[in-house]
Amino acid sequence: MSFAFRHSYQQSLPGSYLDHQPDRAPDPALVALNLPLAEELGLDPDLLQREGANWFSGASLPPGAVPVALAYAGHQFGGFSPTLGDGRAHLLGEFSGPDGRIWDLQLKGSGRTPFSRGGDGKAALGPMLREYLISEAMAALGVPTTRSLAVVTTGEQIPRDQGLLPGAVLARVAASHIRVGTFQFFAARGEGAKLRALADYAIKRHYPELSDNPEPYLAFFDAVTQRQAALIAAWMGLGFIHGVMNTDNMAISGETIDYGPCAFMDEFAAGTVFSSIDRQGRYSWANQPHILTWNLARLAETLLPLIDPDQERAVERLNDRLQGVAGLYREAWLAVMRRKLGLGGAQEGDGALIDDLLPALTGADWTMFYRRLADWAEGRPEGLRALFQDFSAIGAWLPRWQARIGTDPGAAARLRAANPAVIARNHRVEEALAAATSGDMRPFHALLAALRQPFSEHDSYGQPPGADFGRYVTFCGT
Ligand code: AMP
Ligand code: MG
Ligand code: MG
Repeated sequence: MSFAFRHSYQQSLPGSYLDHQPDRAPDPALVALNLPLAEELGLDPDLLQREGANWFSGASLPPGAVPVALAYAGHQFGGFSPTLGDGRAHLLGEFSGPDGRIWDLQLKGSGRTPFSRGGDGKAALGPMLREYLISEAMAALGVPTTRSLAVVTTGEQIPRDQGLLPGAVLARVAASHIRVGTFQFFAARGEGAKLRALADYAIKRHYPELSDNPEPYLAFFDAVTQRQAALIAAWMGLGFIHGVMNTDNMAISGETIDYGPCAFMDEFAAGTVFSSIDRQGRYSWANQPHILTWNLARLAETLLPLIDPDQERAVERLNDRLQGVAGLYREAWLAVMRRKLGLGGAQEGDGALIDDLLPALTGADWTMFYRRLADWAEGRPEGLRALFQDFSAIGAWLPRWQARIGTDPGAAARLRAANPAVIARNHRVEEALAAATSGDMRPFHALLAALRQPFSEHDSYGQPPGADFGRYVTFCGT
C-alpha cells in the first residue's frame, strides 16, 4: 500500500504553515530503507524500494503529498524567537497505519524554505544516517520517538566545515510535529482563536480521552506533563543527552524529536554535555529534568487564556501544576531506576539507595554497570570491579543493594531485561558514518542490527571506546 495522505493539520490550522515545494534532487539514490518500520506502518516495501529515491528526495513526490513548511516559535538556549519554523523540512501529509494511528511523513534536508534564515536548507548524509541510527536505537529501547523511514542521497555535494559532503534527505515519521513552540507561535502573535484551535486539535490527535473533560486545557497540560516526565526519565536512565531541549524541540505527543547534537554517555558524569554550542551546560545530563520544568512553564504561559477568563486565577492554577512537576518527575525517575536496579515494587528507602548510587558511579561506564551488576549478583564480581578505578564508594553501596534485593533468584534476569547491553556508542556511530560517507554502508547495517537487539549481549558493540577516542563533540544543523 502507498500513503493515503490526509492534511488535517493544514485544514484545522490555517496560518500554521506555508505551502512550499522541496528541492528536486538531481540524482537521488536510496541508501537506507527501514523495512521493519514500513511493515509496521502497513506500507508496501517493494513500492518503497522502487519509488523511495524519488519520493523521499523531492524528485517526484508520492501521490497526494502536499508539501508544507510548518511555522513555530521557540526558546533557543533561553532566548525567544517568535518565528522559527521548518528551515530545511517539508511535511508531506498524514497517513494512518494498520492500527488506525495517524503519522506525519516529513522530509528533512529537502531545501530552503521561507523559514531558513541563514541556513542552506540541506543536510549531509552522515547526520541523517546518525538520526536514523539513534532514533532506531531509541525505538528498540522502548523510548517514544520519531522514526526514520528512509535516507536518500540527493547527488549534490554540500559545503560543511569538513569540506564538501554528500547531501541527503531523511524521511521521518512522527505522531505529529506539534511542539511547545507551535503553541508559542500563536501565543506570541496574540492569536487567541488559533491557539484554542491548536489546543483542540492537539487534544483530539494525541489525548482524545480528554475531549469531554470539564477542564480540557488543564487536563491537557497535565497529560503533556506526564508524558514528558516519563520521556525525560527514560532518557536519563539510558544516559541519553538530547543536547538541544529548546521549546521547539519538545513534542506535544511526548516523542523524542530532533536528533541533532544528542548522544549517549559512556562514562558517567552528571554534568556531561556533548553539543559544541552548549557552553554553559544548559542541556547537560543532570539538567534535563530542570529544563523539563522550564519548558513546561513556557507551555503553561501559552495556555493561560484558555484556562480561566480570570487571568489571576489562571496563573494560580497553572503555577500549582508547575510546582508539582519536579515531584512528578521524581516519581518517573524512581520508577525507571527501580526497574534498572531490579527492585520490583516500591519500598521505603529506595529514593536514598538510588540517590546514593549516582556519586558512586562517577567515572564508570553507565551502561555496563547495570549489566555487570547482574553478573555480580550471580557471584561473578570481576567484570563490575573492572569498571572502577576506586572501588570504595561503590563497595559501600553494593551491600545496601544486596540487602534490598535479598536472595531473590530472579534479580539478575530482571536486570538484564531492563538494561541494554548495546547503546549507540559514539565511537561506533562515528565509525559507521565515516564508512557510509565514503560509500561503504556495511558498518552502518551491522551497527543497526545490533541496536535493534539492545538487550542481547554483543561483544564488540557493547564495549566503550578506547582512551584514544578522546572527548566527543556534536553539532546542530549539519
Ligand atoms: P534545531 O536546533 O535543529 O531545532 O533547528 C533550529 C532551527 O534551525 C529550525 O528552524 C531548523 O529548521 C533550522 N535549521 C537547522 N539547520 C538548518 C539548515 N541547514 N538550513 C536551514 N535551516 C536550518
Ligand atoms: Mg528542531
Ligand atoms: Mg535539529
